[in-house]
Amino acid sequence: MTIHDDAKPVLEVINLEKHFPVQRGLLRREVARVKAVDGVSFRIAEGETLCLVGESGSGKSTVGRLILRLTQATAGSIKLHGVDVTQLGEGELRPHRRRVQMVFQDPYASLNPKLTAGKIVGEPIENFESLSSGEREARIAAVFEKVGLRAEAMSRYPFEFSGGQRQRLAIARALAVNPSLIVADEPVSALDVSVQAQVLNLLLDLQEELKLTYLFISHDLGVVQHIGHHIGVMYLGRIVEIAPKKAIFTEPLHPYSQALIAAAPVPDPRFKREDLLLEGDVPSPMNPPSGCRFHTRCPFVTARCRSEDPLLREVAGGRFVACHLREDN
Ligand code: SF4
Repeated sequence: MTIHDDAKPVLEVINLEKHFPVQRGLLRREVARVKAVDGVSFRIAEGETLCLVGESGSGKSTVGRLILRLTQATAGSIKLHGVDVTQLGEGELRPHRRRVQMVFQDPYASLNPKLTAGKIVGEPIENFESLSSGEREARIAAVFEKVGLRAEAMSRYPFEFSGGQRQRLAIARALAVNPSLIVADEPVSALDVSVQAQVLNLLLDLQEELKLTYLFISHDLGVVQHIGHHIGVMYLGRIVEIAPKKAIFTEPLHPYSQALIAAAPVPDPRFKREDLLLEGDVPSPMNPPSGCRFHTRCPFVTARCRSEDPLLREVAGGRFVACHLREDN
């Protein structure tokens, strides 16, 4: 299946799966599987941002960890500039680890408290490049400037920074080795709302200047609306709708996307309807519902939905939806 018809995507994910075995007993026999990611496909073109949204347990963070190769895929492929990184052994992963950098939710936990800010940003340069100390210092100073941190801040420790400055430092560390893809997992959700906008604007400016490609993982639709080009809506390990941002926010087609937008703090009034509000919890990914996984919460469920799994289909240019209601479009 092809999603977005870009000739040369930076990242192409095809039928990605991550199933965690559940083991019991002395012999650690496998008794079940948690299908955290279960057949996810998408592409991201250079200089674009794909946002993955969904409730907790949807699998969006696991997708990020798979792309970073922090965990190994059960099946499927992850192609970075055409190279399938799921097939690379530990020794061959070095170039991948340089080209894909990450920014996490909690900058304080992800920055070594014993290192100065300059050392934190210099660490990936030391790991991945052979620069003289003068060249390294110049690179560190340049990325500090790019993220809006003053040169004097290089000698300070993470605890001396505010939350927003710490996230700027985490972004500087990611930028230090000139990555082609940044995976950002809830990078602003620990920050005050006023600071969130500053960090998002910084990410947008850097993207424009450096042609960066982002996979941005968030549960916050306000944040996603600010930064995304395309939005992938995830539910129980699957993408149920993927489309350009404007289409998702003005005319979401999947009932789950409609419910998410109806539940957002500043929703589009057209979708603020009682019958679109989500009820109940997300079912367990160990035992997902039969047929359409959303059928236990969907206000439009039919008998067919309970038995037949809808495929993710293109319903209009660049718009893909997995719902029986949309199959005749
Ligand atoms: Fe709802 Fe059926 Fe569509 Fe699933 S396939 S989202 S249950 S209408």
